[in-house]
Amino acid sequence: MTQAITGQTRVVGVWGHPVGHSRSPVMHNAALAALGLDWVYAAFDVPPARLAEAVMGVRGLGLVGVNVTVPLKELLPPLLDTLSDEARRIGAVNTIVNQDGVLHGDSTDGGGFLRALAEAGGPGLAGRRALLLGAGGSARAVAFALAGQGCEIVVANRTAHKAHALADAVNGCFGGRASAAGWGEDAGRVDLVVNATSLGLSPHPDAMPILPPRLFDARPFVYDLIYNPAETRLLQAAREAGCPVSSGLGMLAWQGALSLSLWTGRPLSEMPIAAMLRAISPGLGERPAPYIPK
Ligand code: NAP
Repeated sequence: MTQAITGQTRVVGVWGHPVGHSRSPVMHNAALAALGLDWVYAAFDVPPARLAEAVMGVRGLGLVGVNVTVPLKELLPPLLDTLSDEARRIGAVNTIVNQDGVLHGDSTDGGGFLRALAEAGGPGLAGRRALLLGAGGSARAVAFALAGQGCEIVVANRTAHKAHALADAVNGCFGGRASAAGWGEDAGRVDLVVNATSLGLSPHPDAMPILPPRLFDARPFVYDLIYNPAETRLLQAAREAGCPVSSGLGMLAWQGALSLSLWTGRPLSEMPIAAMLRAISPGLGERPAPYIPK
């Protein structure tokens, strides 16, 4: 942070539990400095049992807004005044915007993923087919984002019933675009593979999802939501098989830029994405993991 805190300084931040690992403060404070805003972005460890009190604090203290991460995203919707269509659809909020005391919940994960995928040179999505590995919170955001672009999705998850539930939820919104496949079972030819599991996340970089046979034969684009380590074993295997690949660093930056755009009311094109990426790139693989895979 380069600016001094003054009597005018306003506060934004991130809540999680734990939250000490988060790169959001360094990323957002770099962005705030680049925008010349007299705001500061701080991390708050909020246990789920304290979430309702924390929400009241946003109004009481006049915070600009808040990012929310694991395990609070799915607990927030009933505590807020209004929700975006996106947040309502996926049943999770990663961004609270304080609109003069009216607390609005949004989710920028899906939009951040789509933008990052496009920036990384990912395939066009309408009429294409994707294999989505995982059925947790981030997989849900990715699934709705892909289906919303006209992409057909096959969801595969270790716990099969969650894959079926996610496919059903997507079909409830975007009829017929999603199906479920067994974990490691043949999913047919796909144009895109997205890893939304925590397999491969530091400090367990040797882990990787069980892949369907011949998955890389058609050279799909492989996007891993994990950004620590910068190259997971999945990405390494895909790259060695000749597939274009990307880590999740861009998604982290773009979901943050979308949140910042909501808080400032300024267009996404004005968000300092290069400064944000620069701030979060160093030291990958050297920090404690966000959370430990089961
Ligand atoms: P989550 O809700 O806890 O979901 C975890 C997913 O990983 C579930 O599908 C779970 O399967 C699967 N999984 C965990 N351990 C496994 C194992 N040993 N074998 C097979 N599957 C396993 O977590 P999340 O919030 O969706 O996050 C998932 C990943 O995305 C994390 O690595 C996180 O760092 C990353 N992420 C990145 C960004 C970004 O901006 N780049 C944003 C959000 C998340 P079960 O259902 O069978 O348990």
